[in-house]
Amino acid sequence: MAQVILLGTGAALCDATREQTYLVARGARSAILIDCGGSPAQRLSKAGIALESIDHVILTHHHPDHIYGLSVFLLALWLAGRQKVLRLYGLAETLRAARGMMRAFEWERWLKFGFFPVEFHRIAKDGHHAVISTPDFSVHTTTVQHLLPTLAVRVESRVSGKVIVYSSDTEMCDAVPEFARGADILFHEATTLVQPTRGHSTARQAGAQAQRAGVKKLVLVHLPPRGDPKRFHAAAKQGFSRQVVVGKDFAAFEF
Ligand SMILES: [Zn+2]
Repeated sequence: MAQVILLGTGAALCDATREQTYLVARGARSAILIDCGGSPAQRLSKAGIALESIDHVILTHHHPDHIYGLSVFLLALWLAGRQKVLRLYGLAETLRAARGMMRAFEWERWLKFGFFPVEFHRIAKDGHHAVISTPDFSVHTTTVQHLLPTLAVRVESRVSGKVIVYSSDTEMCDAVPEFARGADILFHEATTLVQPTRGHSTARQAGAQAQRAGVKKLVLVHLPPRGDPKRFHAAAKQGFSRQVVVGKDFAAFEF
């Protein structure tokens, strides 16, 4: 059985109840981290996921709230005794930012002390791409409409055949409903309630996108500080006839 666990559900400016949005897909044999907020080792530990099970990390774009935990995550893996390779996936600009962040911590010096190998896998910008294939999961990406080049991520369980899609940060665009067509769960950002802001979606728009995509369930993530869950739920429900869930940190969804 595969699971998605929300390690955080907040926007860049988060509050006492939400860390910035990132998630993990866990299968029987391995796990994939999607984006990397502030305290991944602590959050994974609280979610009951062994650090050693993470072999793949996808970074959707290089805004700080989506990648800033990477440096301390790599350090934590090393301190936990990791020796096997870790694979990082992202667009060219995202990987450049990730490498730049690691350079700021002079990680080339860590390499002299037996740091485990890290592979960087560049994802092409346009169109759909198959990026990861494991016994548990098949993972694809597509480009969405944000302030920086950004990827949405689609994870299919090889066991159940079910599909989840994570929009990452995006305005209303055709790419999300096309990419999420018929998915079991769409995790869609809702940075505001009903007032659009450039590069992001409202809860109402997330509902409309879920309806266009014909998904079975919508989970709102990337929520603003002190956003009233009842109002976010109601705004999304205006456009979506099926189940809406307002995401909470550590909520788990089977697929
Ligand atoms: Zn962003």
